[in-house]
Amino acid sequence: MNVVWRPTPNYRPGREGRPVTAIVDHVMAGGEVGPDAPPTGSALRSVHFSVLRDGAIHQYVEEADTAWHISAVERSRHPIPWLETPGSDVCATVNLSTIGIEHEGHPGEALTPAQFRSTVALHRHLLDRWAIPLDRDHILAHDRLTRRHGAGCPGPGFPWDGLFSALREYQFMDQERIRSALDSVLSVSAALSLLQSPYAEHLKGAVRAIREETGVY
Ligand SMILES: [Zn+2]
Repeated sequence: MNVVWRPTPNYRPGREGRPVTAIVDHVMAGGEVGPDAPPTGSALRSVHFSVLRDGAIHQYVEEADTAWHISAVERSRHPIPWLETPGSDVCATVNLSTIGIEHEGHPGEALTPAQFRSTVALHRHLLDRWAIPLDRDHILAHDRLTRRHGAGCPGPGFPWDGLFSALREYQFMDQERIRSALDSVLSVSAALSLLQSPYAEHLKGAVRAIREETGVY
């Protein structure tokens, strides 16, 4: 997974001791966050990642820090078990507890194949790193929290079923076995490159392709 680091000043260091509990998926919807610009247009808006239509992933805020991608939460929206903390500022709690991912495009528009692959890889990485449960209370649509974005965010074009089935497949993969097999291939490739063999590059390319397809890094 290739991530381009494009830092924004719009974030809060740390998460006030809260764990990363969930991922919130958004669609940019022309202007919520520009397709290729760090989200600095509005002083208090930011997001951790954007996944662009060509599959590029841009990161603006460190995962361990708080981005401001949720500006309102309506309590009447579907209750979310981890969020029902009486008396807390719900909106702040969501930002402190989540990682936000924007997707270039409009509500109702399908992701491109490259964009789908990249967002699957990014979700896999986040589930692994933060031990986020794989269910719909922990991988959320922005509009599960508020109705403010008329057409919905990320909207009806977002491939929830495809995303969840790709993530479930990943959970059942023996990732350690794939990782150690790839490490063996890389050590053979290192030996071949000492011998200046052109096969070294072929093997490295094969490892890269398997990593991209499986999401195992
Ligand atoms: Zn949104």
